[in-house]
Amino acid sequence: MIKSFEKKIDALKFQIELGVTETIKSNINEDFNKSDLKENIFTNDYNDLSKIKSLEELKFYIENYDKCELKNTSRSTVFCDGNSKSKIMLIGEAPGNQEDLEGRPFVGKSGKLLDKILEFININRENCYIINIIPWRPPGNRNPTTKEIKQCLPFVKKHIELVNPDILVLVGSISAKSILDKDLGITKLRGEWHTYKDKHLEIPALPIFHPAYLLRRPTSKSMVMKDILLLNRKIQYKE
Ligand code: URA
Repeated sequence: MIKSFEKKIDALKFQIELGVTETIKSNINEDFNKSDLKENIFTNDYNDLSKIKSLEELKFYIENYDKCELKNTSRSTVFCDGNSKSKIMLIGEAPGNQEDLEGRPFVGKSGKLLDKILEFININRENCYIINIIPWRPPGNRNPTTKEIKQCLPFVKKHIELVNPDILVLVGSISAKSILDKDLGITKLRGEWHTYKDKHLEIPALPIFHPAYLLRRPTSKSMVMKDILLLNRKIQYKE
C-alpha cells in the first residue's frame, strides 16, 4: 500500500520535473479516454482539425503534434490560462522562459504587467481566457518564424472557434498581424476595433501593445490605457 503511494508520488514528481504543471493547473477537464481520442483525431492530414470538437481534444492534438520544431526545444506545451467560458479571449505571441517552466501563458514579467493593466477594468484570469499564437517557447525568446506561425495558426483558429468569444484582444504585433491577416505594424493597427473573420465567425478584435514592449518603452503606457478604455466601453456598452 505504502509502496504504491510512493510510486504515485514519484510519478507526480517526475511530471513536475518535465514541466507538466499545466495539466494540474489548467481548468480543462481531462476526464476522457486518450486512446479513443488518438484514433478519432489523428488523420493523415495534420492540417485537418475538423474532427476536433472540444478544447480537451484540441489540447491533446497540439500536445501530440510533432511537425513544429519548437516543440523539441521547449519544456511545455503552453495551451491556455483563465476561464474558457469567458467571452473575452486574449491572444499573445509565444511563451517565454517562465511560461515554458510553468506551462501557462503570461506568467512572467510581461504577464505581471498585463495583469496590472487588465485589473484597471476588472479583468482577471477568472473572467478572461488567454492563449498564444505559438504554444511552444522559441529558443532564446526569438520571434517565431513565418513558417512556425503558419504551422500554429490553424490551432489558434480552432481554439477561437471552440471558445467562441464575443471579443478578441490581440496582444502584440505578431498576434495582431496573424489574426487579422494584415501586413501592418501594431502602431498602425492599435487604437481601433477590427473584425476577425473565419468561416461563419465575425468577432470584434482589438490589437494592443505587447507588455514586453511597454516594459522597454514605458512612455507608450498611456496609449495602452486608451485601448483598455476602448475595451471597457465594448464590454460595458457594446460600443
Ligand atoms: N509573451 C507572450 O506573448 N505570451 C506569453 O505567454 C508570455 C510572453
